[in-house]
Amino acid sequence: MGLIVQKFGGTSVGSVEKILNVVQRVKAETDSGNQVVVVVSAMGKSTDQLVGLAKEISSQPNKREMDMLLSTGEQVTIALLSMALNEQGVPAVSYTGWQAGIVTEAVHGNARVTNINTAAVQSQLSEGKVVIVAGFQGLTEEGEITTLGRGGSDTTAVALAAALKADKCDIYTDVTGVFTTDPRYVKSARKLLSVSYDEMLELANLGAGVLHPRAVEFAKNYQVKLEVRSSLEKIEGTVIEEEASMEQNLVVRGVAFEDEITKVSVLGLANSLTSLSTIFTTLAKNHLNVDIIVQSTTDAKTANLAFSIKTEDLIQTLGVLEDNKEQLNYEQLDAENKLAKVSIVGSGMISNPGVAAQMFEVLAANDIQVKMVSTSEIKVSAVVEEKDMLKAVEALHQAFRLSKGN
Ligand code: ADP
Ligand code: ASP
Ligand code: MG
Repeated sequence: MGLIVQKFGGTSVGSVEKILNVVQRVKAETDSGNQVVVVVSAMGKSTDQLVGLAKEISSQPNKREMDMLLSTGEQVTIALLSMALNEQGVPAVSYTGWQAGIVTEAVHGNARVTNINTAAVQSQLSEGKVVIVAGFQGLTEEGEITTLGRGGSDTTAVALAAALKADKCDIYTDVTGVFTTDPRYVKSARKLLSVSYDEMLELANLGAGVLHPRAVEFAKNYQVKLEVRSSLEKIEGTVIEEEASMEQNLVVRGVAFEDEITKVSVLGLANSLTSLSTIFTTLAKNHLNVDIIVQSTTDAKTANLAFSIKTEDLIQTLGVLEDNKEQLNYEQLDAENKLAKVSIVGSGMISNPGVAAQMFEVLAANDIQVKMVSTSEIKVSAVVEEKDMLKAVEALHQAFRLSKGN
């Protein structure tokens, strides 16, 4: 007998019919003698609808109340799935995040899971019940409801799998696995048989929405055996593991992309040892996340600095920089909107020099201007204009031999 954690995303539980399909998936595991914990998301697009309702009432809704609102979506699904399982003769019980012992830090909207008290879940499992847990939510030490960030049900599932020492965590979704790039936008994308934790972490952080980045972090840290697979088609998915074998010696495993990026330039910044630390400490104190940073010295006294942020953070970022202009000591600010980040990821890059060069050649050959660059051992990212994003993704996908039939 094993212990399996199954997670079903929004589209996989989007209707009564889909919930009945989930019952079959759960039953297949219980029939084989396994104990099962099921984590579910809110039905279909219901989280988006709740966000829409809040925006009709307030342009900047209170974050605590937002968590109170969004956490209701998952609670609908757990109750319905539990009823459906019991109806089919599978004993099941539904738990909200807090009932399942999921403790988070005290941050609304994007909280990290800090601890899981598994006693209640374990006791129900030992009574032979399937335990259905609401994804995406937890409780702070002070008893406040939090949510884990959009897509966070994946993290609930993997964190529970780690805490319960489950044999496996299966993420059921609307695609058949992790692809070389988003199959919704690139028709030639190919399903991968396996991806390493490190590659998946980069892909997830760089915009591949198929897994929540923190879910991959948990899987890597606790060596959780993770598989992404289809909730409808009964076929093998993609295994995420420590070492993935390189198919056909390809150096790049996948291409990820993200739009709505803005480049902020700080011009005429007084050159001192502490000027950079002051700027970025000020932004961090205001919870503003900066991605790529480029600094060029213009003369001995001043430098120009540019960094990229999510466009949704632009107004707040400019506000913080302007409010602190005197202390930060710069001449002028500038912002360039409608940018996107396109990234290639693969462990094979470590031992293959020239991958970045090839990427830039491909982009140049397609008349795509590169605005900013960042690299790590296993990825290269380029910021380009939003209008060029998909063209860049298609060209890189083709050039690095990721397309079907290669
Ligand atoms: P769920 O509701 O099941 O959590 P998501 O919408 O969060 O599903 O994630 C699945 C989606 O992720 C797919 O429909 C696909 O469009 C997108 N996606 C982005 N990048 C990739 C990729 N590399 N491989 C597979 N799917 C991807
Ligand atoms: N329901 C949440 C969302 O739509 C969490 C999730 O689906 O993972 O983001
Ligand atoms: Mg998701």
